Amino acid sequence: MKSTRHFAGVDLGGTKILAAVFDDRGKLLSREKKATKPELGVTVVLQRVEECIHEALAAAALPHTAIAALGIGVPGLVDTTGQVVRVAPNLRWQNVPLARLLRSHLHIPVTVVNDVQAGTLGVGEYGTGRGLKSFVCMFIGTGLGGGIVIDGQLYRGSTGMAGEVGHMTVIADDGPKCGCGNRGCLEAVASRSAIVRRIVREIEDGRKSVVKQLCDGDLTRIRSRILATAYRQGDDLVREVIHDVCHYTGIGAAILINALNPQAVILGGGVIEALGDRMLPRITKSAWAHVIAPSAERIRIQDTGLGDDAGILGAALAARQRCP
Ligand SMILES: [Zn+2]
Repeated sequence: MKSTRHFAGVDLGGTKILAAVFDDRGKLLSREKKATKPELGVTVVLQRVEECIHEALAAAALPHTAIAALGIGVPGLVDTTGQVVRVAPNLRWQNVPLARLLRSHLHIPVTVVNDVQAGTLGVGEYGTGRGLKSFVCMFIGTGLGGGIVIDGQLYRGSTGMAGEVGHMTVIADDGPKCGCGNRGCLEAVASRSAIVRRIVREIEDGRKSVVKQLCDGDLTRIRSRILATAYRQGDDLVREVIHDVCHYTGIGAAILINALNPQAVILGGGVIEALGDRMLPRITKSAWAHVIAPSAERIRIQDTGLGDDAGILGAALAARQRCP
């Protein structure tokens, strides 16, 4: 029997590490998850990444030698050779030679990609972007990032920074402060961090919300899943915040539609995975209110069709592309 090559894909987020093993055709064989714990430093995070990969291999009943290459998506700026993480604020990393460090332990080729660009690759190859020549992805997670595909190619821009959709200004005056230093960015109102910040502030100001019970009184434990439960239970505060998120995300989608005329705007990330069925109709309604009229009939606004797997699929794909 002809031996098949396998690829590993890792999605290294500020909160969790996802590692998976795929066969040559992108079929998922196993996936494992671990908390990242970035506060413990680079060495510990790398150990956790390696443990997660070993566990995924064990779950797929594959030896180490079955993996032809590894791709890893990180939430930050990656150098153009796919070797070094220049800066990743959610991991507290600066100039980490990630590919070399992992390669020295795992002894396989390693490709480092930006997590959102990896997610966009995954959506284009295996998700709802499949077969589309032009689409835009918006991923709502800890931060809010995006990827732009034009004529079947990921558009990287003049310095590789294209797709920073989270920093479109959606509140022109006196909006909340963003991590980038500006005010009123989409990420500052619609990312999960922004959602949690607002909910915590309101609860601390005395507003009633079921969120407090759902996280056993520890507001640092709010995750997308808790937001989704509170929303489905009809919690007033969470509904108000999520509806604002949909409003501003819709405005962001409309800006992208008017500027780029894509075939689809595809939404992903933890928040959408947890609450997409409720959010997508509202985001669409808000977008159509701001889109030039004829566009609305043809452009789809939809989820990735991949759940949480877009990032690991895209990372594995990036590794395969560099491994002929
Ligand atoms: Zn910003």
